[in-house]
Amino acid sequence: MRKVCLLLLALLVLLGLPFSAEASPFGERVEGLTEITGVRVSNSQDKTRIVVDAKAPVTYRTMVLKDPGRVVVDIKGAWLSPQVKRELSVSSSFVSRARVAQFDPRTVRVVVETTVGKDNYKIFPLTGGPVPGRVVLDFGRVGPDSSGATIALPDVKTTKPVAPQTKPTKPQTPQTKPQTPQTKPQTPQTKPVETKPAETKPVETKPAETKPVETKPEEPQTPQDAEQAAQETAADTPGEQPATESSTDAGIAAITGLAGHSITIDAGHGGNDSGAIGPTGVTEKSVTLRVALALQKLLTSEGATVYMTRTTDTEVSPKGAAASDIEELQARCDVANRHNSDIFISIHMDSFTNGAAKGTTGYYYALGSKKSRDLADKVRAGVIDQIGTPSRGTQSCNFYVVKHTDMPATLVEVAFISNPTEEKLMNSEDGVQKAAQGIADGIADFFG
Ligand SMILES: [Zn+2]
Repeated sequence: MRKVCLLLLALLVLLGLPFSAEASPFGERVEGLTEITGVRVSNSQDKTRIVVDAKAPVTYRTMVLKDPGRVVVDIKGAWLSPQVKRELSVSSSFVSRARVAQFDPRTVRVVVETTVGKDNYKIFPLTGGPVPGRVVLDFGRVGPDSSGATIALPDVKTTKPVAPQTKPTKPQTPQTKPQTPQTKPQTPQTKPVETKPAETKPVETKPAETKPVETKPEEPQTPQDAEQAAQETAADTPGEQPATESSTDAGIAAITGLAGHSITIDAGHGGNDSGAIGPTGVTEKSVTLRVALALQKLLTSEGATVYMTRTTDTEVSPKGAAASDIEELQARCDVANRHNSDIFISIHMDSFTNGAAKGTTGYYYALGSKKSRDLADKVRAGVIDQIGTPSRGTQSCNFYVVKHTDMPATLVEVAFISNPTEEKLMNSEDGVQKAAQGIADGIADFFG
């Protein structure tokens, strides 16, 4: 886990080098990202409010994880100012612990350990006011207040107590070793809510059959919603507060670690089959292999078991170049099926006669499981977050490798090698690393 963070840190530093020649230690290195300037906690009898202050309006995604119950908010395109405290001081019956960290070079993650049910927390953006971009996380009796300071709630007599959801946090085993990856696969309680604004629409060629589900940022709740919220405020039992934490970032990475999961990575094409070729001669097979190898490293360091269909420039079938197309593709499926891996990821670069075509597409087998579609959607979103390509949507297909694998499977067309800009990006170390990171993010999101 630490390794990943170090890698990310190294990447961040590398990226920043051209800008950091002058003075400013960190700020100069994060051009294009929004600074998170503060994270504040306030407690009232009714709720615990956590306010994230950003220098500009931000977009974010929310996930809910179990054991222990956590609400995770990923703020996209953001960097965490060094002066922000990583471990927040919380003492309430709704929240037992809250942490914030730079999760990856472009994502700030807030993790709140809480026992409240889904009707008892609310996350919403606030724009305007003294701080231009704020994200508010309310836990407890969630209400319509938007001041970020004093909490005005409707009369409590009308609300029904919902005991089990809002009981004071049971004394949990203090998590003294946040670095240890959790071995149990975690099931998200609710689907991650995408709160990004709609992505760029797919362009020409293949029409998107199925658009990814995206929702607008949540609005603050109405007083009525607050009425329904439960109250349980009598006992002011403080949650568990670990005294210190050596490395918050590593701890947060552990929360969504991939230990216990097995993943087969298929680098598209190889050997005699170069795949598509870009305008300057970059081959698809070389890019897919580089991304696959970088992804292997990332996933392995997060604790996953990784199987590769190929690790060099070669065919996968034992027949080599003599294998038929089907034999070659079946050999790739065999790797995943033989190892009974949890998911299958096939990496490709798209191509089109018109060099202007660009963007990222996630594919899943049309008659496959819902999970395949979910995986395709998340991997596509992860890639786009990292390399900034336009979305061409998540689409159903009849591709051999996603059809003949026995587990949730996706084929991701990372970018268009036929597009001069995307060819250049994907032939760069930066592009390769980011694409791999994006796929890894999508996988982590899938396993949540
Ligand atoms: Zn291909």
